Amino acid sequence: MDAREVKQSLEDGGLRCTPQRYAVMAFLLEHAGHPTASEIFEAVNRADPRCSRATTYNNLRDLVRAGLVREVAVEGRAARFDAKSERHHHFICDRCGAVEDIAWYKVPRPDSRALGKRVLRDCELIFRGLCARCAPRHASRAVRV
Ligand SMILES: [Zn+2]
Ligand SMILES: [Zn+2]
Repeated sequence: MDAREVKQSLEDGGLRCTPQRYAVMAFLLEHAGHPTASEIFEAVNRADPRCSRATTYNNLRDLVRAGLVREVAVEGRAARFDAKSERHHHFICDRCGAVEDIAWYKVPRPDSRALGKRVLRDCELIFRGLCARCAPRHASRAVRV
């Protein structure tokens, strides 16, 4: 990811490119593993101690509001953040909380009766289960019991 692309994506979202905002966006574009706000803060703060927790969180919020970053809510755990611009679905591991991407495919619209007067903007599926690292461990335990 080169600096021009990061700046361009901030401009596309109508955001000014401050050094702190740049650092948050660049980190997210380089780390597709859906980090938490706290992980983002620790990384950008390590690189530049002037990036405070409050500034980092505010920049993250601005990026989400501008539609450049998606917030993935994970029940009972800290929300995760994702700057991948291609549409995709998510898989969340029940055991370790890993959030992984599932390649995009079109989801059928609910029929008009189910939808009522709601106006759809977007759709995202969340699959739950065990990730590739947790599934074998779970299986071996199940066999022993
Ligand atoms: Zn897992
Ligand atoms: Zn994702």
